[in-house]
Amino acid sequence: MEPASFFQQPPALRNTYRSDLALREHLERLLPAEVLAEVEPELDGMGSAAAGELARLADEAEASPPRLVQYDPWGRRVDRVEVSPAWRGLHAAQARAGLAALPYQGRHGPHDRVVQHALLHLYAPSAAVYACPVAMTDAAARVLSDHAPAELRERVVPLLASRDPERAWTSGQWMTEREGGSDLSRHATVARPDQQGRWRVHGVKWFTSAVTADCALVLARPEGGAAGSRGLGLFLLERVDPVTGEPQVGATILVNRLKDKLGTRALPTAELTLAGAAATPVGGVDEGLRKMAGMLNVTRVHNAVSAAAGMRRGVDLAVAYARVREAFGRPLLDLPLHRETLAALAVEAEAAFVLTARAMELQGRLEHGLASEVEQRSLRALVPTVKLLTGKDAVAHASEVVEAFGGAGYIEDTGIPRLLRDAQVLPIWEGTTNVLSLDLLRAEHKDEAVTALLEEVSERAASLRGAPGALAVAVDLVERSAGALAKDVLGWALADGEALQAHMRGFALRLGRTCAASLLAGHAAHRLERYRDDRGVHVASRYAERWLTGAAPGMPPVERLLASRQLLAF
Ligand SMILES: Cc1cc2nc3c(=O)[nH]c(=O)nc-3n(C[C@H](O)[C@H](O)[C@H](O)COP(=O)(O)OP(=O)(O)OC[C@H]3O[C@@H](n4cnc5c(N)ncnc54)[C@H](O)[C@@H]3O)c2cc1C
Repeated sequence: MEPASFFQQPPALRNTYRSDLALREHLERLLPAEVLAEVEPELDGMGSAAAGELARLADEAEASPPRLVQYDPWGRRVDRVEVSPAWRGLHAAQARAGLAALPYQGRHGPHDRVVQHALLHLYAPSAAVYACPVAMTDAAARVLSDHAPAELRERVVPLLASRDPERAWTSGQWMTEREGGSDLSRHATVARPDQQGRWRVHGVKWFTSAVTADCALVLARPEGGAAGSRGLGLFLLERVDPVTGEPQVGATILVNRLKDKLGTRALPTAELTLAGAAATPVGGVDEGLRKMAGMLNVTRVHNAVSAAAGMRRGVDLAVAYARVREAFGRPLLDLPLHRETLAALAVEAEAAFVLTARAMELQGRLEHGLASEVEQRSLRALVPTVKLLTGKDAVAHASEVVEAFGGAGYIEDTGIPRLLRDAQVLPIWEGTTNVLSLDLLRAEHKDEAVTALLEEVSERAASLRGAPGALAVAVDLVERSAGALAKDVLGWALADGEALQAHMRGFALRLGRTCAASLLAGHAAHRLERYRDDRGVHVASRYAERWLTGAAPGMPPVERLLASRQLLAF
């Protein structure tokens, strides 16, 4: 006879739209009632798929990572990257839902970005990082819509924005080189015209995700162009040469190898040699960096969408587990300290969501010509801030979720370690935390963008003065923090340049937290006023108390910078 044994009941995901109260409450505030009513069946369908079919596809795609076949049986170079049917299934699902297409052919004007965000929030955690190709496809459609000549735009944008899985293109973005990803000025890839006057690109690209994409935006220096990042041009490369109809992959686009990565394992990321690949300039061969900025604005917000969505998934799973796992005679959820731990995770996830939602909302307004001048400047600072804060928080959050599962959280086939492995890329690609923190200096210098963002935060907080009880405390913390940050910005003009750089990460994180707290407070006030519902008050006050009670980080004196050198002298 078998000894009596215990088997743990696993955590079960339910329709992730229906079970995400925070998402539904924010959408009620962000969307007009008739728009929400119209899109709700799609959201409900995506929530159901995310807890079922998509999650199954994601597991399969993870279990069958991409494979590079460099030669055909007869020795011909083909460089075929084979992906699983499940990965193709994830492509089909996103295309049908219009995840990249919505901003270009949606029905709800500026609200399309909000709808897109909500759908992506549900799709991304069940898509084995297919949200990455979606992000790059959306960004390519944006850049081509804004900068490409009519022929290129009219040919390619409808493919990128197609909802037909067979027809829908995806795009990559090939920037990073061995010389550097953050410092583009060192890029060695060159573009030169051939005898027919077509541009040909030569060089090595060191990280190229979604390498099976139909096209890619590529930075290259037109031969003889200026040195540094200013001399770079932006080009569109297509898998199949649009003039000859011949495949470029295996011929002028060579796949050297696939990256062996910590996470994002279903996503094919390769090193490429461009050996004279035919390329089309995107609106001339100059100002590549400026055009690329439009692309990065889109992908950085998508990165934040994935971060916030992954955090929410972590909460869903940890709470589901805490319901069925017992310790000390009670479900984990009944243990006060574990419950507090999970509540803190839920608060962090909602803060990431609300920040991202604000960026998406403003992006939609910008694209439809509705953003005021202040909103445009504010968005310029909000995008790097949202990306860097959510990327950082997603990793810490996933780590806490792993711990919330105890030993099971460390075991691969529970699926939990994947949350942490996949989160770790979020602060790295699309600009690291430090690089984006320094970007805020440029944004302020050029557009006074940080000032605009802080003004918006202060105005929001001022409009909430007189809020009751705990919300008043949160609002007061936001006002003080925004005031301190604004004072800090005033000091930048006179600051020592090195000390200022060393200070920027602390500043940027605090800026993000202050902004998130103000948005949570605004949402809480809305819920209180309209529904007498105080859930949002708890979220806003816990977040503000956790992050805004300590002093804002001051600028380090120059002696401290010298001491940092000593600390690292080994
Ligand atoms: C899974 C994965 C997929 C990727 N996919 C793509 C892709 O599809 N296309 C693409 O183009 N790239 C891609 N990348 C590359 C990614 O964008 C780069 O790795 C990233 O931009 C950093 O560049 P780097 O690796 O050269 O690091 P470096 O630029 O060498 O940076 C190293 C460290 O130095 C810090 N640092 C750099 N400059 C400064 C500064 N001025 N002040 C303070 N700190 C600084 C950075 O924050 C970082 O911590 C991918 C990366 C990964 C991990």
